[in-house]
Amino acid sequence: MSPSPCPALTERLEAHHSPSMMETDTIIIGNGPSAMILSYILHGHLPYYASNPPHPDPLLHAKLKDTPQLLDADVSQLTEHFAASRLSYSTQALPANVLLDTLVRPSVDIEELACRTNIEWRHVPEKAVPHLVFGNAIQPGGQWTENLMPASWDIQTLSYASMLSLPAYSFAQHYQRTKGTELPAFTRPSRQDTADYFREYPHAVHIDDVFRCHETLSGISRTEDGFFIRSHNIRCKHLVLASGIFTEVIQPRPMLQPLASLTPSPDSPFLVIGSGFSAADVIISAPQDQKIIHVFKWDPENRPSPLRGCHQQAYPEYAGVYRLMKRAAISAESVSPTKRPTKMRRGMSTSFLESRPWDQLYEGLPNTEIIAVDMHTDSASVTFRRTDGTTFTRLVRGMVYATGRRGSLGYLDRPLLAEVLSPKDGTEISPIISGQTLRGKALDNVEVAKDVFIIGSLTGDSLIRFAYGSCVETAGKLIGAFLGEGKTRPETVAAARPQETSVGVMHGIDGHDVYPSEQAARVDSIHQDTAFDEQKPQTDGILRSIWSSLMKIW
Ligand SMILES: Cc1cc2nc3c(=O)[nH]c(=O)nc-3n(C[C@H](O)[C@H](O)[C@H](O)COP(=O)(O)OP(=O)(O)OC[C@H]3O[C@@H](n4cnc5c(N)ncnc54)[C@H](O)[C@@H]3O)c2cc1C
Repeated sequence: MSPSPCPALTERLEAHHSPSMMETDTIIIGNGPSAMILSYILHGHLPYYASNPPHPDPLLHAKLKDTPQLLDADVSQLTEHFAASRLSYSTQALPANVLLDTLVRPSVDIEELACRTNIEWRHVPEKAVPHLVFGNAIQPGGQWTENLMPASWDIQTLSYASMLSLPAYSFAQHYQRTKGTELPAFTRPSRQDTADYFREYPHAVHIDDVFRCHETLSGISRTEDGFFIRSHNIRCKHLVLASGIFTEVIQPRPMLQPLASLTPSPDSPFLVIGSGFSAADVIISAPQDQKIIHVFKWDPENRPSPLRGCHQQAYPEYAGVYRLMKRAAISAESVSPTKRPTKMRRGMSTSFLESRPWDQLYEGLPNTEIIAVDMHTDSASVTFRRTDGTTFTRLVRGMVYATGRRGSLGYLDRPLLAEVLSPKDGTEISPIISGQTLRGKALDNVEVAKDVFIIGSLTGDSLIRFAYGSCVETAGKLIGAFLGEGKTRPETVAAARPQETSVGVMHGIDGHDVYPSEQAARVDSIHQDTAFDEQKPQTDGILRSIWSSLMKIW
């Protein structure tokens, strides 16, 4: 398939291109899934409601059937009945994201791959907007192109393949094309297969003409009539921040850092610190005979691990790690003189738990503090303190500190950063951000400062399935502005809403994306407000039960 350059883009870039300066309408920063969805729309592919078959929500169908254009849809009006609907719409994600998600995959919970979309992408080339997509990842795919934790590339995604799919070239089509066989329903693809899909996507849908990979933008400032990007000598009228919230790994305290340089050996325990998915990924990826000491926060009442939401059938490996942690927590409590021992529930063994002699390999240390590290040639003595004050020492070789990741807006200059963050008077601004940092603003408007937009995980909805809404809203404004039809945002900088009580979805992927930013530095555990209560009996059918646990994780 040969790429067809975006007509509007070619025109504008040629008109303004000189060896020293380039100009275009829109620059997208980041080359992850959300940048790809937006670029697809800006190439002139506009979303319309496809009413055959009708959406399973008759009210939504009635609202859309005669006004199918979705680019400038009135999201509040279309979603106002969602809370009372019998369909289980997410109450956590942004309304625009929920709306587009349900239109893209209306019945995914029952049919998955057979689910017929209610979105038709109509090609209207005259609505294309000149733009370029810059990403520091070496290939399209954003955070999927790298593996910042020492976890296997074979680790399966949390989402089913259909929920990772982008417009016009689905994961299932990619699978069929590359493997020559049909994708089985309810496949959780490997991280590697997902990265391969995203790498291929721009080429497959002919948008690769605008992708500039392995390029890091910096020094972005506002000018009189738009923005200037110092690192690349580019001027543009609009900026789209699609840089995500996973670029910076939270670092361990200096005392712990030397432990990471030790070479692991199966006979000596390897130290894993963290309570979320990344820590679990490291444990799952460890060699079969590797001894592991796992330090984690355990506070099921107030800050349950996101692993707790993992159903045994849908996520046997994460449910297995959670069970190991729970066992360790129960046994730590039962040695405490003030607690009565709690019995483990029977019949909870899974293939993952039976895959290794975990009793000999895994030592879980809930709420345990590391108080001293004594380095030797190829190992270290680490001293731990339990909550009751008692201490003990273990010899370890190697460590992974997996307590969370953050994004950075360090590519904006200070005045522009201040506009985007709109700090309260006197509050120190930091470029380091979590999914919550811009959440309040995103609830009001994806245009977080005049002509600056956020899409994807920066909005606080980190799942790919929920990226469509922010991309469609942003595209609507960019296309309107380019064609001179748009409603522009007033010059005044909008103040951020007070910290939103509703938290982002996929809480704690990596465990930690729901802390207010000021807590970021000291975070070393996880939090999930809507954790799935694993003690609840499952009364529904298997699909519904898997789906409901997924919904609760997200
Ligand atoms: C370990 C892990 C597993 C996950 N699993 C799932 C899953 O199963 N399902 C799911 O739906 N979501 C999952 N996610 C959530 C993830 O947020 C989304 O999948 C998706 O990657 C978000 O896309 P994005 O476009 O917002 O940003 P990202 O994919 O994060 O891409 C942003 C890119 O912008 C780059 N960038 C930053 N600054 C600059 C700059 N100045 N110049 C150039 N480039 C820059 C970043 O380095 C990054 O490559 C997972 C996340 C992690 C960390």
